[in-house]
Amino acid sequence: MRCVVATANPDKAAEIVAIMGEAIDLHLLARPLGVPDVEETGETLLENARLKAWALFEATGDLTIADDTGLLVDALNGAPGVRSARFAGENASYQDNVARLLKDMTGKRNREARFETVAIAILPGGQEVIATGTVYGVITTSERGDRGFGYDPVFEPLESDGLTFAQMTAVEKSEISHRGRAFRELAALIAQAVS
Ligand code: IMP
Repeated sequence: MRCVVATANPDKAAEIVAIMGEAIDLHLLARPLGVPDVEETGETLLENARLKAWALFEATGDLTIADDTGLLVDALNGAPGVRSARFAGENASYQDNVARLLKDMTGKRNREARFETVAIAILPGGQEVIATGTVYGVITTSERGDRGFGYDPVFEPLESDGLTFAQMTAVEKSEISHRGRAFRELAALIAQAVS
């Protein structure tokens, strides 16, 4: 099946297709150059995933896949949540966001957190398919590991025997990750919808 992925990040597109490719046969098309990045103005992960998916679907008419992810920290009342990419400011780097998180968590005894991903597909007829994935864990007190991206060095999933996401291989991470779970379910739902 031809598909486009609504992300400007080619690593993320490849990761998504690799996860979904185990369940359905996807042929990733290049994202058309003329379609600008949408502003993530939604107040929920679902709203933002929808904004990204529909903008690209309207431009291509092909099966379109998008997602939005947030890190929700209990002691910070669910922050950074939908603002995870911009936690330390509009053009914050991953490093800036991690530094802000560790600072805000200084002295907090409750370090429980979770990643949530909302994944969405718009089928060629315009039908929406939605799946979610969650992984629970804790925020570490310092960074560990140099793989992955974003908050990976400070997120230790409960199912990982004490490793942060940044200390795991990509395959180990996607077996238990929010994104892995959401996209495996999305692939199954797409397969059902088109069969
Ligand atoms: P996005 O909606 O997938 O672009 O994610 C928003 C922000 O959440 C990113 O800029 C990252 O900082 C963070 N994030 C998303 N997924 C992950 C992940 O798998 N590990 C660590 N951080 C992530």
